[in-house]
This record gives sequence, structure tokens and C-alpha cells, in this order.
Amino acid sequence: MKLLLLGLYLLVTLSKYALDWINLRHRQKEHPPLPQAFDGKLDQERLTRSDAYALAGDKLSFIEDGVGVVLTLAFLFGGLFPWYDQRVQELAPGFIANGLLFFGLLLLLQLIVGLPFSLYRNFVLEEKFGFNKMTFKLWCADTLKSLLIGGILFVVLAGGALWLVQKVAHSWWLWVWGFWAGLSLFLMYVSPYLIEPLFFKFSPLAKEGLEDGVRELLDKAGVKAGKVLQVDASRRSAHSNAYFTGIGKVKRVVLFDTLLEQLEDQELLAVLAHELGHWRCGHIRKRLIKSQLVALGSCWLAFTLLNADWLPSLLGLEQLSFAGQVLLLSWLASLVGFFWTPLGSFLSRRDERQADQFAIELVGSGRELASGLVKLARENLSNLFPHPLYVAIYYSHPDLVSRVNWLEKRKPKGEK
Ligand SMILES: [Zn+2]
Repeated sequence: MKLLLLGLYLLVTLSKYALDWINLRHRQKEHPPLPQAFDGKLDQERLTRSDAYALAGDKLSFIEDGVGVVLTLAFLFGGLFPWYDQRVQELAPGFIANGLLFFGLLLLLQLIVGLPFSLYRNFVLEEKFGFNKMTFKLWCADTLKSLLIGGILFVVLAGGALWLVQKVAHSWWLWVWGFWAGLSLFLMYVSPYLIEPLFFKFSPLAKEGLEDGVRELLDKAGVKAGKVLQVDASRRSAHSNAYFTGIGKVKRVVLFDTLLEQLEDQELLAVLAHELGHWRCGHIRKRLIKSQLVALGSCWLAFTLLNADWLPSLLGLEQLSFAGQVLLLSWLASLVGFFWTPLGSFLSRRDERQADQFAIELVGSGRELASGLVKLARENLSNLFPHPLYVAIYYSHPDLVSRVNWLEKRKPKGEK
């Protein structure tokens, strides 16, 4: 069984590397001419630069993933796992303390291993391509704050769950799910007020005259509540984006200040219309419900498998602590999860198309969105030529060239 699992892990790992490889090769091939919206916006120099940027990113992920693979192999298959499990049990025999120490130390290790990569990514790679705007001081402050918030959340989420497992042994799956679901809902409500302001400064749109256009668009979209804000992303990075968060009364659209600099008003409104599309098509709500159902199912499955008591034998072990079994289970889930990735990506791309269609209806054509997206791709040095298989498996958005093609041809419904 251990060999079988090792085989499965290697299969998934090699598949990921193979996908990266064909994606890299595909990017460097000759490509058919780009759609009209790209005219005059992207020259050969930009394309060469974006290829170099993607290649540098590929190299870094290759090494980072490699380190992860080596550590996983050593831990799960190299005999470290039972040793670690034993030591933690000796140090903290109590059920809750044991679980917290077991996962806490592993998370700490992951953090330490990831630090040099995070530093290199920000201050060497992103710096080289002109994206990094962060000072080392800000990076330290960010890292410390995330560590603190993450630490508190970890203790509450894991500690609470372990307590429930002990208290209601015969049905903890339902209680743990309810606890986590309630807490994550609560966090969705309070995070814009409590957590996000620790990192970013949000303010009303500063660009002259834009506010009126935005109000008009909101009215037209039938969106009453909700805020449209800009965020000072430029303090950290020159990358640009727009996003949409929240449920209930705290719904809001956030535009990066870098985005506001890079786009014309009409393009900005089209991007905003796309984000409003996610809102009006109920994507956020549906995703939330779906993920909670998956979480409920996973909790039940974990409960059943952990009670069955044969998990340690999968790795040829006599016994493992509860925490050890949970770790093994979540590792298995991440393996199986790889095979689900294409479905999740497909559903997400379908939502994106819907939101694009909504934007077309709202602003009357897809031209503005297309030209806005092309500019963003230029500024962000996005990869314009991903391999179709790579897109099918990983991309949450349609690849830019086909998206722009689609937007240019598509008309509002009822218009010929
Ligand atoms: Zn979208």
C-alpha cells in the first residue's frame, strides 16, 4: 500500500511538472497573429519581456516545488513521520495540546522553508521586472502581521475543532463543520473592517469624474448597496487588479490604484461592470454554498475514515496519533484534489464568461473590456500563450487571447 501511495504521489508530481513543461514549450513556439484589440498595444519587446518574466517565475517555482517534494518524500516515506509523531506525543500528551503542537511545528517549518523564496520573489524577481514597490521594512511588517493573525486563527480553528472532537466524539463532524462554517462566515463580515485595513488603505475613488460614471453603472446594474473603493496596492506592487468581495451588506468592489492609473475611464467602467456581473449572477453566493457543502462532506468523510482505524496501515505503520492521522488524510485529500482541479477551473471559467456577458449587456459592447484587459496584460507581463491543456486544468479565467476574441465578436443579446 505504501508503494502504491508513493506511486500515486509521484504520478501527480510528475504530471504537474509535465504540465509546466509543455506550457513553457508552448509559450516559446510561433503563434498566429493576435486579435485586433492588441494592435499598437503590444510590441515584440513586450512579448520578449513577458516571456523572460514567465521563465524566471517558472524557474523559481520549479525549485520551490522541488524542495516541497523532497521534504514530503523524506517526511512521509523516509521514516520521519512516525518519529515526529512519537516525539510530539512525548512532549504534549494531552489531546488538544498534542494536535496544536503537531500542526503548529509543521506550519512553522513550512513558513521557514518558504521565507527565502518569498524574499527572492519580491526583492529579486519582481524587482528585476519593475514590479516590486515594497520596502524591506514593509515586507517585514506584512510578514509579522500575517504571522500573528495566522497564529491566532490557527489556535482558534484547530483548538476549537480538537475540543469538539473530544467533547462530542460520536458526531463531531457536524459540530466541527458548523464551528468552521460559522467562523468563516463571521470572518467574511469582519475582515473588511478588522483584517484588511491592517495591510491596505481603502478610500473612495479619487479619479475626477469617475465616481459619477460608477454611480450610473451601479444604478443600471440594479445594484443598490455596496461600495466601490480603491486600494493603495501600489505601495507593494505595480501589478494591477480588480476584485469583488463580501456578502450581505459588506459587499464591495475594490479597484487597485495601479489599475486606475493604467486604464481609461471607459475601460475601468467595463472592468467594474464585469465585477458587478459576478455580483448579479450570484457567483459569490453559489461558490460559498458549494464550498460549504464540500466542507460538510469532507468532515463526514474524515470522521468515518478516522474512526475506521486503518489509516496508519496505509504507510505501513502500527499506529499514529489523531493529529498524525488527520495530517495523512489531508495529504491524501490534496492528492485526490489534483484530479478535481480541472472541474473547479472549468466552473470558474464559466462564471467569468457569464460576468463578461453581463458586462457586454451593461456597457453595450465588449470592446472596452477587451482593450482594458489587453492593457492589463501588457502592464502585468501576462503570459499570452498558455498551452490549452494547461488552461483547461489550471486557469480560473479564459486565456486572454480567446477571451478578447470572444469579447470582440460578442454583441449584447437582441442585437444583431
Ligand atoms: Zn471575474
